[in-house]
Amino acid sequence: MQSSLPSNTGDLLNALRELDAGVHKHMSWLKVLHRSLICNSASNAEDMLDDAHCRCQFGLWYYGQPHPELLGDNSFEKIGTLHQEVHECARALLLKSQDGQVISPDEYNQFMDAALQFKFEVGKLQANIINQVCVVDHLTGVWNRSSMQQKLEEEHERMMRSDQQCCVCMMDLDNFKQVNDTYGHPVGDLVLQAATQFLNKQLRKYDSVFRYGGEEFLLCLPSTTIEDAQSLMDRLRSELAAFPIELKGKSAIHISASFGLATMRPDESIANTIEQADHALLCAKANGRNLVCVWSLDFKMPD
Ligand code: GH3
Ligand code: MG
Ligand code: MG
Repeated sequence: MQSSLPSNTGDLLNALRELDAGVHKHMSWLKVLHRSLICNSASNAEDMLDDAHCRCQFGLWYYGQPHPELLGDNSFEKIGTLHQEVHECARALLLKSQDGQVISPDEYNQFMDAALQFKFEVGKLQANIINQVCVVDHLTGVWNRSSMQQKLEEEHERMMRSDQQCCVCMMDLDNFKQVNDTYGHPVGDLVLQAATQFLNKQLRKYDSVFRYGGEEFLLCLPSTTIEDAQSLMDRLRSELAAFPIELKGKSAIHISASFGLATMRPDESIANTIEQADHALLCAKANGRNLVCVWSLDFKMPD
């Protein structure tokens, strides 16, 4: 399951590029190794070193720097061990070959199994990274709408299992068109980024933010009663309104947002809960903006 904060798309794409380059080099290395074993041609002296796995391009990338964007990925963890095993098996084969000894089928199989397993896990990691990149909104770095349904379904199920409430909040920036009209669309983009960074900082680790569309965001607040969600959102609202968005060479911009809250119910579909939160948001807009409204059973839509 996704964590509450997506990884940085740029870091993930970099990792994908490094993996591609590393695997390409790894395949070339494999060719030279086979050639030296089969044709008795010269091998690479570094392959005989204990830390050979750290010296190839893949090893330099994998072991040489931290990869917070990939931590916790099962394939990423396995790849390090498999890559080391490939190099250790290769060293054993080279030693035998240089001593003029015959390499047994088992020894060759062990080497090739590790090499194939390594390639397989790298493929899985690449697929995981692509999957991660596809669920992130590239402008703001929060989850995009396509990942929202799955997350909300998971939270709906968890809520029913655990008997704990989960709230959904629709948040829409107020008069955002004016920001674009006054400062231009690129500044509008920066303001959207600043607003989402602010959201991510203020929310709890287990809350999630999704870009619902344009300047509208859906916040999922698990294990939260509607009363707690209301005070949480009200604090967020007032802090956002007071938050100066500093942009180079310009005086700070202030924005505000309106919030509509609804609570998930066992007998209510997720679509209905979102609709209720949306109605509450309309109510906040109709009542002057920069407000939090809560949907309730006797809720009346504003005229
Ligand atoms: P309200 O308080 O009623 O929500 O007013 P509003 O101006 O925020 O709402 P409206 O729907 O009239 O305008 C939304 C604006 O948000 C218009 C649209 O161009 C802008 N917007 C949506 N997505 C983006 C984006 O990715 N970047 C920028 N810069 N602007 C965006
Ligand atoms: Mg708006
Ligand atoms: Mg809007």
